[in-house]
Amino acid sequence: MLTDEFGRRFFYLRLSVTDVCNFRCNYCLPDGYQCTGAQGREKPLSVAEVRTVVRAFASLGSEKVRITGGEPSLRRDLPDLIAATSGAAGIRRVAITSNGYRLANEIDRWRDAGLDQLNVSVDSLDPHQFERITGHHKLEKALRGIERALELGVETKVNTVLLREHNLGEYHEFLQWVRATPVTLRFIELMRTGDNRSFFASNHVSGGDIETLLLRDGWERLTRHRSAGPAREYRHPDYAGRIGLITPYSKDFCADCNRLRMSAQGALHLCLFAEQGIDLRDAIAGGDHRALAEMIRAAVSDKTAGHQLAGGRTGATRNLAMLGG
Ligand code: SAM
Repeated sequence: MLTDEFGRRFFYLRLSVTDVCNFRCNYCLPDGYQCTGAQGREKPLSVAEVRTVVRAFASLGSEKVRITGGEPSLRRDLPDLIAATSGAAGIRRVAITSNGYRLANEIDRWRDAGLDQLNVSVDSLDPHQFERITGHHKLEKALRGIERALELGVETKVNTVLLREHNLGEYHEFLQWVRATPVTLRFIELMRTGDNRSFFASNHVSGGDIETLLLRDGWERLTRHRSAGPAREYRHPDYAGRIGLITPYSKDFCADCNRLRMSAQGALHLCLFAEQGIDLRDAIAGGDHRALAEMIRAAVSDKTAGHQLAGGRTGATRNLAMLGG
């Protein structure tokens, strides 16, 4: 089992399969994806390379893989990437994070390829506000995709980054939606990155304030599974869905970190905010998952205790589209 020197165990791999994104979210990529530098020119991991990466992590005890990006649905071979992941011995759950752009058309294929769980980013339930935040008039399409995923029985979560000036006023609409819709809606605290400093200053909302509202209104906190993501989850007897809170600025956020990240170019990131990744592309391309696993095991011993975001650190992370959020 992969364990670091603080006793944290890594059940969960977040695997980026492309840096490219077609949305222009105002907190992430306001000018859209720019193909610059060596990273932009290097090809993303192939299906065979993804298979090697996932086998290596599975041999080290990882049981859940989230495929992310950039926007993973921009990869035409996404069903093959999902199948390569779900086919690895030891992997129990394959999840994907998407902006929902291709969801309605593709979810049946993804499910057939072995997808268990889906996260869709929906930052507003008002089509015009959705467009102002993401640059696309695609709310309805995303909602149709979510409906289809629920029909197929795919566990579905919704990611909503809380933004003081853009969607905080919709808090009650989001809750009303969850009353009737069996999704887990996770309010994510905006994170400060190298690219969004002034936006952060005017838009960050504390997750602690939202938790106070939820507890006041009868929401009850649930216990967390060992391969669960970073959200604290809450349920309420009157609601079909659940609420999650992702609060990277809370004091113990890193203490139960169970996640490692692989970039689309094959660099291992020990933390979303690590200064730089560890380039494993040559070992990945070599195809020997046992040799790769040994390199990963050695690298994990260097994982630090915390991300130090509260100290204003943003690391080398310009925006989270680089690393799958
Ligand atoms: N394209 C996919 C999507 O839209 O979900 C996957 C990549 S996206 C970077 C993953 C998640 O990170 C999204 O839910 C997005 O809202 C979130 N995210 C991006 N930048 C963020 C920031 N600065 N703070 C908090 N969450 C952020």
